[in-house]
Amino acid sequence: MKEIFLLKLGEIVLKGANKRQFEDKLRQNIRRRMKAYGNFDVYLMQSTVYVEPMDDEADIDGAWDACHKIFGLVSLCRCRACEKDIDKIYNTIEEYLGDDLDCAASFKVESKRSDKRFPMTSIEISREIGGRLAEAHPNCTVDVRKPAYTVFVEVRDLATYVHGPAEPGAGGLPTGVGGRAMCLLSGGIDSPVAAYMIAKRGVEVECVHFFSYPYTSQLARDKVMELARLVTAYCGRMTVNIVGFTQIQEAIRDNCPEEFFTLIMRRFMMEISQRIALGDGCGALITGENLGQVASQTMQAMQVTGAVVDIPIFMPLIGMDKEEIVTIARKIGTMETSVLPYEDCCTVFTPKHPKTKPTIGQLINAEKNLDREALIQQALETVEKITVKYDDEPFI
Ligand code: ATP
Ligand code: MG
Repeated sequence: MKEIFLLKLGEIVLKGANKRQFEDKLRQNIRRRMKAYGNFDVYLMQSTVYVEPMDDEADIDGAWDACHKIFGLVSLCRCRACEKDIDKIYNTIEEYLGDDLDCAASFKVESKRSDKRFPMTSIEISREIGGRLAEAHPNCTVDVRKPAYTVFVEVRDLATYVHGPAEPGAGGLPTGVGGRAMCLLSGGIDSPVAAYMIAKRGVEVECVHFFSYPYTSQLARDKVMELARLVTAYCGRMTVNIVGFTQIQEAIRDNCPEEFFTLIMRRFMMEISQRIALGDGCGALITGENLGQVASQTMQAMQVTGAVVDIPIFMPLIGMDKEEIVTIARKIGTMETSVLPYEDCCTVFTPKHPKTKPTIGQLINAEKNLDREALIQQALETVEKITVKYDDEPFI
């Protein structure tokens, strides 16, 4: 019999009235994600999603990898199904997991019987199968307390499923149950991690990137597109809004006091992002800001940059250490791309002595020679919307 995946639901099981809606969304997300790997049947029973290949052409390994990146799942079991018959269960384990047992120093069998019509209890199943396996693998001793390997037997409604240790799922909530938000994506380490973290809470993410050609190169833009593509492995296809930012940066350079350059620029970014966000049905902004990391990330700086928008700004990295952020960047596979050396527009015209404790009054005064609205309108006219999918060619 072919392999099948049993994917266990995470926090969804705690949901009350909304549970059904969450489950439907998750099943839909998994179904969509599996399409790239062939013909799979995806169904949900007993708080478990079953993913079953329908023919021999299905790419089981590819599908299995993809399942690790689907939010809403806590653990993943790659199983083999068999009939609900103790001899068949034993034979299937022997054939499917026998090699693993030969490599382990000790083992135990853990059984679950949700189909109570099966004539043996869980304990009886474990004891019977454990006894037979111990005889067949004399070098692998039974150890019920701290086994090196565990064989799982799940007697469920449709069949019995046998598998080795489960693997951790991506956690979080199914993409799409928590609304939509707009992430300000730079080419750095932080913002892709921020997008991932909010997507993990069930939010559909869209991105906006400010691009200052010719001060920043085409390569810098490709790098950002590639970061977005990498994040789609978790959050599904997304739109990236590329905004031409050159004129705004030049206007700031020519008309404003240098110590406020970065703050004024960030206020434009926030305001433009909010306008695009509202037009696209996003209810919040996401940034990779991190308290104290740079001059523009002090409390006072965040107040003056946040003051130009009124939807919530999610900053999931606010209290993390760089090391913790880097660990996540490595885990989700964005780190290598983030450290490529192409400049972000934040590094163009950076002040020598940036203001770290600005006030709103100072900012309004510093911006007095700018026609903010005209600059914003002009930038909005440059917006290019690009849809990114994980199976697109890499951008860089
Ligand atoms: P990152 O590693 O995400 O670039 P950072 O530590 O370099 O963050 P800043 O450059 O001060 O911090 O930017 C703070 C946040 O502002 C970023 O995390 C990102 O959300 C947003 N941001 C910065 N530059 C851009 C840009 N060119 N386009 C869109 N958003 C940007
Ligand atoms: Mg940056």
